[in-house]
Amino acid sequence: MPAHSRCRICATPLPEPFLDLGEMPLANAFLSSAEEFPLEKSYPLAVSACPQCSLVQLNFVVPPEILYRHYLYVSSTSEAVGRYAATLASEVGARRRLGKKDLVVELGSNDGLVLQAFQRQGARVLGVEPARNIAAVARERGIPTAEEFFTEAAARRLAAEEGKASVILGRHVFAHIDNLHDFFRAVAHWLAPEGTLLIEVPYLGNLLAQLEFDTIYHEHLSYLSLRPVMELCARHGFELTDTSPVPLHGGSLLFSIHRTGTAKTTERLNRMWKAEAENGLHRMETFAGFAQRVARWKEAFEGLIASLGSAGARFVGYGAAAKANTLLNFCPSVAQQLTAILDRNPLKQGSYTPGTHVPVVSAEAWRKDGATHMLILAWNFKEEILAQMRPFAERGGRFLVPIPRPELI
Ligand SMILES: [Zn+2]
Repeated sequence: MPAHSRCRICATPLPEPFLDLGEMPLANAFLSSAEEFPLEKSYPLAVSACPQCSLVQLNFVVPPEILYRHYLYVSSTSEAVGRYAATLASEVGARRRLGKKDLVVELGSNDGLVLQAFQRQGARVLGVEPARNIAAVARERGIPTAEEFFTEAAARRLAAEEGKASVILGRHVFAHIDNLHDFFRAVAHWLAPEGTLLIEVPYLGNLLAQLEFDTIYHEHLSYLSLRPVMELCARHGFELTDTSPVPLHGGSLLFSIHRTGTAKTTERLNRMWKAEAENGLHRMETFAGFAQRVARWKEAFEGLIASLGSAGARFVGYGAAAKANTLLNFCPSVAQQLTAILDRNPLKQGSYTPGTHVPVVSAEAWRKDGATHMLILAWNFKEEILAQMRPFAERGGRFLVPIPRPELI
């Protein structure tokens, strides 16, 4: 098991983890049949904070060949992502006056939904997506996609074939990258001199404030705040120039990054930086306090499920997301209470959750299930799910949202 003893940005020796979630199977390694249960593997899941640059990071890294072999997340299953893509593309398109001469590259482009929005803005687009089955879906919808991991070598080759990129976008890929220095060297090579690098990441400030510990899983190697990103940019001749909130995935940030001196730093970024320091994101005590809050949450959540269960409640889950698997493996007594997990992604239906082996079924299966309570595991899509599951409420069903605090609706 490859362990990091030093920070992946500044190489400072890492202290002991402040939060240890124990050994867990991979959050996206759904099982297709019961025969696979005994073969399941688990890996340590614990996070440390760098005392120098404040990067919160996993110490143990599962090799990407194992991690991404069965990657099932398909972005078009969420309407919210589709709406967001349209907004993002029109904002960036207007600001940069994107036209035919501009190449927009998306790293981890998934099924091409986001790039399609940029294509509608008139830009030339290229996806970089290592998952073969998903890259094929993107090409079917007319989005040119290179089946690759994004490395410096791949960037050099693709830049030679396609030309320099006006915009490089990475939504929820940055936290998955082990070698961040190689990533920046790759960007430095491919991005046009005045180009924009846009990186969307779940924000550590929200993770801490909203107790989103379930967004910690093996694929997320880094948990980012402004400070480590600035540190990393500076080492490669770039600077963070702006940051804006993204109303998806439990509160993410979009970082705008440019070559040093090619764009102005916004007032919004300065305010955010001040708030981050005031909120203690650069202090080690903040992280110890977070771990204590997670322990108290677990006790309250398991207690609530147990008492509802003994009063006759029947539970079904909603959203077989990766975060659901961190939560359920951390609270196995809750997983035991679930008869099934509903999910709209047909690739996941018929499978079993890693570690806890709860069957994943179609979103409509509750009608035959007799469930009285629906546990919203994909809480970042709470509003969408509540609207969609209105018939469940009309039949007297109750919703239970686990994060940031267990709440019955
Ligand atoms: Zn560091």
